[in-house]
Order: sequence, then structure tokens, then C-alpha cells
Amino acid sequence: MLYDTILTVMKRYKKTIKLSNVGYDIRGPVAEEAARMAAEGVYVTPLNTGNPAVFDIFAPEFVEEEMRSAVRAGQPYSDSMGVEAAREAIAAYCRSKGITKTGAQDVYTGNGVSELISISMQALLDDGDEILIPSPDYPLWTGAATLCGGKALHYKCDEDSGWLPDLKDVRSKVSPGTKAIVVINPNNPTGALYPEELLEGLMKIAAENELIVFSDEIYDRIVMDGEKHISTAAVEGAEDVLVVTLNGLSKSHMVAGYRCGWMSFSGPTERAKDYIEGVRMLASMRMCANVPAQLIIAKALSNPFSAASMLEPGGRIYEQRECIYRAVRDIPGLSVVKPKAAFYIFPKIDVRKFSIRDDEKFVLDFLYEHHVLMTHGRGFNYPDPDHFRIVYLPEVPELERIAVKLRTFLADYKQT
Ligand code: PLP
Repeated sequence: MLYDTILTVMKRYKKTIKLSNVGYDIRGPVAEEAARMAAEGVYVTPLNTGNPAVFDIFAPEFVEEEMRSAVRAGQPYSDSMGVEAAREAIAAYCRSKGITKTGAQDVYTGNGVSELISISMQALLDDGDEILIPSPDYPLWTGAATLCGGKALHYKCDEDSGWLPDLKDVRSKVSPGTKAIVVINPNNPTGALYPEELLEGLMKIAAENELIVFSDEIYDRIVMDGEKHISTAAVEGAEDVLVVTLNGLSKSHMVAGYRCGWMSFSGPTERAKDYIEGVRMLASMRMCANVPAQLIIAKALSNPFSAASMLEPGGRIYEQRECIYRAVRDIPGLSVVKPKAAFYIFPKIDVRKFSIRDDEKFVLDFLYEHHVLMTHGRGFNYPDPDHFRIVYLPEVPELERIAVKLRTFLADYKQT
């Protein structure tokens, strides 16, 4: 009692005002509730993050071996841009994807793409500067841009056209205050893979308005159905646009926990000297990226498609995608676009049928009843409360059980 009285007069330690508009719901309030349930001994299936090793999808043996042998050599700090041999290998990978002029001097390594998203936004955006980000998005982009004072404007990705960016909408949102546009391809949360013409259209808009393009390509080696990923920086017109391509090993080599990512600059880099100097300064301020993880890059990229067998018919990720797609499609009240890449599916809920006004409550109710953690659509800066994302990394029998739970749950679900 006395302590409560004292507390009321004591100073409270508060987070910054800058954080009040920043969200990251993938690990947000619903995930916290799941953690609370887990602490009480309830097993919760974590379908909120694309974290392959949690579902026993591990790195190839040669990658683990390389990490073991990096334990000693990885002890000192490296150069802030990154280990030279790693940057050479990354540059070679970029060239293999048609980003022809990339050299090691254009590459920065980071503690995952996540850290480089933060650095690249901090170096670019002053208060009020606008940046175009897809809706739905991988929400770190919106969060990072907002945190450094930028204004995130969301352009529509159209479900009716397989979740492709709506170029008309993109164009209508460009203003004199727009500095950049973010492209996430393959896309999280929709699993869409963008055709070349669409990327050319985006580049045309970028070139006409002198925008920087940030192309998040972390899923470029998790592509199915015989399709091929095309890098934004490799399409026609890209030579006139400053493109920052981001990628890493988290998903392609299943080492999300190693924190291993990179970004490369291409196009008219001579016009971006000042911006790149800012990036370099921020990279220096954090010393360097995790060095043992950098030391495995060259070996890992000697086999960039090590996940390929999992993505073909009969392969684990392919069959999981087939299973969840069919199951979701057949549940009354849900509809869904079939994902072509990554590990995610983004179903639509018939809001009228279930009287849904709050998608966060929807995933929370499902969590309480069936102990499965998913993420609501608005967590991806999607405007309407009628979507949710499932991570389809569990094996087929587990996914089948989850689908039954979803069907059972929706059979009589109504929000009041
Ligand atoms: N970009 C996208 C689209 C992602 O989905 C993720 C992780 O899920 C990241 C970036 C972060 O990747 P990293 O593990 O390299 O930080």
C-alpha cells in the first residue's frame, strides 16, 4: 500500500514519443500473449515468424561446418563495410543475377537485412520525407522509416491481380517530397513473385521521379513452380536508378539466427556519394556485422540454391505450400491467392459472414482456443481488418491439424 503511494509520486521511465507510431505486430501484443501462455506450460505453435530451424529445417551441413571453422577467425572486428572475401562473393552473386556492375566496393554486410533496413532509412530520411512502401508490407520497413521521422505512404498491392503492386496507385502517391520506394519481391506476407514488366514499370516511375529504390529480395531463392526471381536492379531502365538491393542467408540457407545479411548499391552511385557516406558512417558506428556469420558467406554462396530440393514437387516446402493452400481455400468463408514464393500465405476472411471488425481479436481468439499463433493483416499495414498471415513451415501432418482447427474455429465464429 505504502509502496503504491510512493510509486504514484515517483518518476516514470518512458519510451520516446518517436516510438508511439511504430509497430511490429509480428512480435507484438498477440505474440506476447502467446509467450505468457507458453510460460504457463501451454504449447503454442508459433506461426508468426518465418523461422525455419524452429520447424527442424536446418542449414546444409557445409554451412554449419563453415560456421564451426569461423569460431577463431571471427573473433576480431572486421571492416565496417564487411569482410572483403564476403563482399566479393556477394558482388559475384549480384552479377550472376544480372546486376552487372556490382563490385565489392558497392556491398555492405549487416546483422541480417533487418539492421540494414534501419541503417538505410536512418541515413536517408529527414523529418517528413516521404517513402512509398507496399501494403501489405513486411512491417519493419514502415517501422524503421517512421522511427527516423519519415512518412510512410502505402501503395496498394492488388489481391485480384495476384497481389502485384498497382502501378497507378504507386504513381498517384509520388509527390515532390517522395525520396524512395520500397519493393519486397518475393513478397512477405503474400508470397507474390513479380514479373519483369511490372518491375520495369516501377523503375520507370522511379526514374521519372528520381526516387531511390530499395529492393528487399531476401526470399529470392525460395521460389516455386519453376519460376525465376528477377532482381529489380537487373531490369531494363535500372541503370538510371539508384537501387539498394537487400538480401541475406536467413531464408535461403535457413540460418535466421546467425544474423547474416547484406545490401548492395547499383545505378548512378556517383550521384549518391553523400547518402552512401551516411550509410558508411552508421555502419562504422556499430563497428561491424557479426564476423563469424560473414565468414560463411563465400562458401554459402558457392551453392546459393541449397534449398532447391525442398521447393520442387515432393520437396518439403512445396508440399507444405500445397497442403495449406488447398486447406485454406476449402474452408467456408476464406479465400486465398496461391503463394509462389517464401513461406507465407495471406488468406482473406469474409468479414460479413463472421461479423469481423477487429482482425487482431480474430487471431487472439484463435490463439486462446487452439493455441496457434498467427499474425493479423493490419500488422502488415494492410488497411482492412480482413486478412491474416499463416507461416507454413510446419510439416504437412501438423499443417493438416492446424487447418482442421481453423475450420472448426470458423464453423461458428462471430465477433460480437
Ligand atoms: N525482409 C523481409 C521481407 C523479411 O520477411 C524478413 C524476415 O522475415 C527480413 C527482411 C529480415 O531478414 P533478416 O533475418 O536478414 O534480418
